[in-house]
Amino acid sequence: AAKADGRGVHRFYREELLEGAQNRKRLEDDLRQALGRDQFHLTYQPVVSTKDALIVGYEALLRWEHPQRGAISPTDFVPVAEECGLIESIGEWVMRTACMEAAGWPDHVRVAVNVSPIQFANPALPAIVTSALAASGLAPHRLELEITEGVFLNEDASSEQMFRTLKSIGVRLALDDFGTGYSSLGYLKKAPFDKIKIDQSFVRGAIQPGNRNAAIIKAIVSLADTLGMETTAEGVEQQDEIALIRDLGCSHIQGYVYGRPARLATVRDQLAAAGGYAVAIGHKTSR
Ligand code: C2E
Ligand code: MG
Ligand code: MG
Ligand code: MG
Repeated sequence: AAKADGRGVHRFYREELLEGAQNRKRLEDDLRQALGRDQFHLTYQPVVSTKDALIVGYEALLRWEHPQRGAISPTDFVPVAEECGLIESIGEWVMRTACMEAAGWPDHVRVAVNVSPIQFANPALPAIVTSALAASGLAPHRLELEITEGVFLNEDASSEQMFRTLKSIGVRLALDDFGTGYSSLGYLKKAPFDKIKIDQSFVRGAIQPGNRNAAIIKAIVSLADTLGMETTAEGVEQQDEIALIRDLGCSHIQGYVYGRPARLATVRDQLAAAGGYAVAIGHKTSR
């Protein structure tokens, strides 16, 4: 019986693997077509100043509407795009589209674009950024590039050069998901970030008495202040977390409490409603 069970388990496992591989192959093929078939769009999530609750900018978040499977999350398809070499062309589309769409917003409103470590390692990135800015007319200081700690995996002279070149274009740089990687503290002093985005795992539960996350956030803020960098707390969901985050010294808040990622039309309404100086209050939007 044990033998039969073993074979049974083995066969089941193989079928699953095969199915997984076929799924994966199909996903890759579909992803290859997605750009040409206009299946991507950007959503935008407000970034709010803790000082006055004004929206200072939006983060562009990529969405893929698959004809059969519906909406596929970037956490599922971005890694696939990175592995099969599609992130370059998708990333370029994101850069151009975000700049073009944000150029229609009031001058003080920025846009943040996520840049994969693979894009960051491409010497063509500065030219892609420059071209997107020129085509859209967006001022460089209104564009913020979000880079994760993953860029430090291949830390070498070329990444330092890339930081310098991007800064010389005049764009802002943000370190995304801070605290989820490994010892990036040493790199903070070398890389010219304008902002640290504190990962939402530190915001989670910070409000609870005795939770250590508040102390960690405070320490990150203190470090950022010393280095002259702003701080955004990510993933703030509850109203009572706003005061805590502000009291811990974060300069900005991003999270469902102020709005979910929304389509461009919603952003336009939001900005128009307040003469361009939208005061953030929780609003419901679609993905
Ligand atoms: P990220 O850059 O850290 O973006 C923040 C993620 O947290 C977004 O997920 C956002 O919808 C989500 N989020 C925001 N506020 C809250 C909240 O209050 N609670 C919770 N639970 N989640 C919140 P999303 O849009 O699914 O994106 C996931 C990740 O995919 C992004 O994480 C980013 O790493 C990547 N990504 C998204 N768009 C792009 C893109 O255009 N290019 C690249 N390379 N990566 C992208
Ligand atoms: Mg981001
Ligand atoms: Mg993040
Ligand atoms: Mg993330």
